[in-house]
Amino acid sequence: MSSAVIGRFAPTPSGFLHLGNVFCSLLAWLFAKSQGGKIVLRIEDLDPARCSVEKADRLAKDLAWLGLNWDEGAYVSKNHEDYFQSNRFSIYQKYFAQLEANENIYSCFCSRNELHAANAPHLSDGRFIYAGTCRNLSLAERQEKMQMRKPSYRLKVKDEDISFVDGIYGRMTYNLANESGDFIVRRSDGVYAYQLAVVIDDALMHVNQVVRGSDLLSSTAMQLYLYDLLELKVPSFTHIPLLVAPDGRRLAKRDEDMELDVLRKKLQAPEKIIGWLAFLAGQIHKYEPLKAEDLLHIFDPKKIPQANIIVPQELLNL
Ligand code: GLU
Repeated sequence: MSSAVIGRFAPTPSGFLHLGNVFCSLLAWLFAKSQGGKIVLRIEDLDPARCSVEKADRLAKDLAWLGLNWDEGAYVSKNHEDYFQSNRFSIYQKYFAQLEANENIYSCFCSRNELHAANAPHLSDGRFIYAGTCRNLSLAERQEKMQMRKPSYRLKVKDEDISFVDGIYGRMTYNLANESGDFIVRRSDGVYAYQLAVVIDDALMHVNQVVRGSDLLSSTAMQLYLYDLLELKVPSFTHIPLLVAPDGRRLAKRDEDMELDVLRKKLQAPEKIIGWLAFLAGQIHKYEPLKAEDLLHIFDPKKIPQANIIVPQELLNL
C-alpha cells in the first residue's frame, strides 16, 4: 500500500509572492491534491536579516486568497510555531553535531574576497565551486584561525555521481565536486544553510513529495547527499520549468509588475491568475479564469513542459 502524499509549500518570506512563486505553489498543490494528498506550509525564514514575520503573514494571506489552502503547518497547526525555520535551530544543531561527530564537515575561514579569488566560477550561473582551501588544515591551524574569525562549516563532498529520477526531467546526474565543491551547512554567523535545514525539515515533517522550481535541480543532488549521511527518508522530487520574460530572462523578485500585489490590482480575481498559470503549465488550451480546485480533475503532469515558459506579452502588458 502506498502511503498518502504529503507535499509542501516552502516560501522564504524575504519578499512578496510573485508570479513564479505562485506557479510553483499551484503545481505543488495540484500534484499533492490530485493524488488525495495534503500540503504542509513551512516558512523558510532562516535568515533573520532578510526575512520578517510581516512578510510571512502576507505570504500566507496571499496563498489563501489564491485558493491554495494547506492542511498542516504555519498558521493552521496547533504547534504552528514549529513550522517556522527560525524556531528550529536546536533541531538543526542536533543534526549538525552528528555531521561533526562523523567528520563529514570542517570549519572554513575563507573570507568573501578569498573565495572569489581562489575558486572557479560555476559554468552556467556565476556561483563558485569551492576549491577546498580549508579542507586539510591541521588542528593547530584551525585553532589559530579560530582566534581571528568565526568559521563557516562546509560539508566534504565526494567526487562521484549522484543520480535521481525527477518527475518532469527524468534521470538527472550531478557530481558535487564539479557542481559546488564542499558546500556550506552553517554560516559564520551561526545561521544554518538552506540545504541542511530543508532536508531535516522535509524528513521530520514526513514530506514525501517535493515540487519546486528547476533552479533547484542541482541543489537536489546536495540534499540527496545529506539525506544519505543523516540516514533520512528521501522524498520524490519534481522540478518545474521557470517562468521567463520574452527576452529569456528569469522572472525574479525585482520584476515588480509580476508581483502578486500588482497582478491582484490589475486582474482583481484570483481565478484570473490561476487561469493564466494553468494555461502556462499546459493544462488548458487557452486562457480562461479558473479556480485551483477546478483544475484538480483535469490536472495532467505530463502536459507540463520541460523548457522554461515565456510569459506572454499580453500578461506582461496588463
Ligand atoms: N524556500 C525556497 C524558496 O523560496 C524553496 C525551497 C524548496 O522548495 O526546497 O525558494
